[in-house]
Amino acid sequence: MNKFAIAIHGGAGTILPSLMTPEKEQAYRGALTNAINAGMALLKVGANAEEAVEAAVMSLEDFPLFNAGCGAVFTHQGTHQMDASIMEGKNLTAGAVSGISRIKNPIQLARAIKEKSGHVYLSGEEAEAFASTCGFRFEPNEYFYSEERYQQWLAVKDTDSYQLDHADKLEQGEKKFGTVGAVALDVHGNLAAATSTGGMTNKRYGRIGDTPIIGAGTYANNQTCAISCTGHGEFFIRAVVAYDISCLIEYKGLSLAEACKFVVNDKLVKMGGEGGLVAIDKFGNISLPFNSEGMYRAWSYADGLVQTAIYKD
Ligand code: ASP
Repeated sequence: MNKFAIAIHGGAGTILPSLMTPEKEQAYRGALTNAINAGMALLKVGANAEEAVEAAVMSLEDFPLFNAGCGAVFTHQGTHQMDASIMEGKNLTAGAVSGISRIKNPIQLARAIKEKSGHVYLSGEEAEAFASTCGFRFEPNEYFYSEERYQQWLAVKDTDSYQLDHADKLEQGEKKFGTVGAVALDVHGNLAAATSTGGMTNKRYGRIGDTPIIGAGTYANNQTCAISCTGHGEFFIRAVVAYDISCLIEYKGLSLAEACKFVVNDKLVKMGGEGGLVAIDKFGNISLPFNSEGMYRAWSYADGLVQTAIYKD
């Protein structure tokens, strides 16, 4: 039994050592470590799991190489539309938001929706109107601009295809889902999960993936586990991935590792859904399954030792 623990991801996909520079790898590992430390600093002093996953995801949203917050990809219209959700396992309360373009840390807005709106899920301009009633500051477009993301979008903007994060390198084999997420168990025995994304490059028609959908991209239940997903959202929605894993534990008595393996490496693979997730159960066991080449991930138990990984081990 682990007293408390946290695990995070910065997206899964075709992440290959051959496509990485040592500098970039160091930057990714540093960002993952910072996010774990942000969550652990709270867990160590008895904060609840929800505060820890929010802090970890905010740290990831502030790192431009991940597809969330300041690193969000461009839509077909050349804008940014971000999605996020958060859930507490203690009382099954949740907050979610989609299609927002001006909030620095969408995960904070998801939490505010959970706590103050009386609803679970708000979207678009009206969600931003709610944000302003809560005192959120709006960022200008430039805050979400990065040359790399802009070039990715330019390469596909005149086509009908929507693409995964880092799609500009698809010809060379790189394909990455850069969504970020965190799961945690606190000293009080509470579980929580949080996920945040910019979605897919060149997405249009208000496309929304699994990230803000409770049960698909995010789920937490103190009786079972907490899950945050990354991958091809359409498949994760159809497979109801996060809730499915919780149900396999609750109704079928599977262990966390068995449930994760079945859903990610069997069910999703048969459907053609690429991606992965981070999961933690009520005993503090951590699972980090993915069916792609790699997944940016990191974890720590109560001993405070931070471990990071990117490729298949
Ligand atoms: N799951 C996200 C989506 O479909 C993408 C990702 O994981 O990067 O919007």
